[in-house]
Amino acid sequence: MITRSSALLQRPGREEAQPLSIQSRWQTQLARAIRDPRELCRRLGLDEAWWVGAERGHALFEVRVPEAYLARIRPGDPSDPLLRQVLPLAEEELVAPGYVADPLAEAEHAPAPGLIHKYAGRVLLIASPACAVNCRYCFRRHFPYEENAPSRAQWEASLEHLREDASIHEAILSGGDPLAASDRQLAWLVERLDAVPHLRRLRIHTRLPVVIPERIDDALLGWLSASRLQKVMVLHINHAHEIDEAVIAACRRLKDAGVTLLNQSVLLREVNDSVEALAALSERLFEAGILPYYLHVLDPVAGAAHFDVPDDEARELVAGLREVLPGFLMPRLVREIPGEASKTPL
Ligand code: SF4
Repeated sequence: MITRSSALLQRPGREEAQPLSIQSRWQTQLARAIRDPRELCRRLGLDEAWWVGAERGHALFEVRVPEAYLARIRPGDPSDPLLRQVLPLAEEELVAPGYVADPLAEAEHAPAPGLIHKYAGRVLLIASPACAVNCRYCFRRHFPYEENAPSRAQWEASLEHLREDASIHEAILSGGDPLAASDRQLAWLVERLDAVPHLRRLRIHTRLPVVIPERIDDALLGWLSASRLQKVMVLHINHAHEIDEAVIAACRRLKDAGVTLLNQSVLLREVNDSVEALAALSERLFEAGILPYYLHVLDPVAGAAHFDVPDDEARELVAGLREVLPGFLMPRLVREIPGEASKTPL
């Protein structure tokens, strides 16, 4: 999950689709991601009983799973914690009280299309509307992307806001997934951010290095290393099984480029709702050179109620986690509440 603040924003100008022959390897993977729920079930050896539900969930929020992520899912196991995150289910049709299309209601914090200025000292820019994977619990699953396609000129308006406010020291690239944008577009944006004298840090919220580790290639490291800004990447990983050797190698390249790596997770029923799963996640994150940052409770987005873990249970899990982990591997348990000036600790 990328920065949660971007749900109601418009998209920056889209890159033209490139022919496969000149696409990077990661772009080819992105283009070839599974988008058919039956194919997903078939590839994972799930019988026809799963197909109907998968199609019903897919009708509400389309399935998208890249091959590199698929390879980490255990075939024939419908309870695999990675599969649970990406497999559409009929439960997504359930109407649950309090679960809405736009759980974070953040439009009022958008001084320009593609920009959120919600917290002091930092702003969030939408670098790409696309994601490499469609997570079933995503708070923006109902966002009408097709109706929102701002141009590069609108993006310039965001930069202008940033230039005019000397209190802003950090720019956060979000999406969708900001790393779904091309390196050409990202280099263009970061070059302009570099030129803003009061900016100190560049933060990137992304899931792409996890689902397609090849995204961390020379082209990306080129514009990232060239920036004068201090770099922080906040990854989104919910389960230890998501971190394979390719992800570890990608993280190593980022660290070698001077990037600080943090992780935010979402507490999800039947994915990571046990002390054992959360402890294994923190341990594995640290092996990959990533520090746990936030553990979010679920945003109440319509279609995702079956992932909910009640607050009391979340607190008990975190108390249990504290008994088995050193303090530096403890994520902070938080909820995002619309209108609050910061995330709310639980
Ligand atoms: S990567 Fe997943 S959680 Fe993040 S914005 Fe995309 S769909 Fe949502």
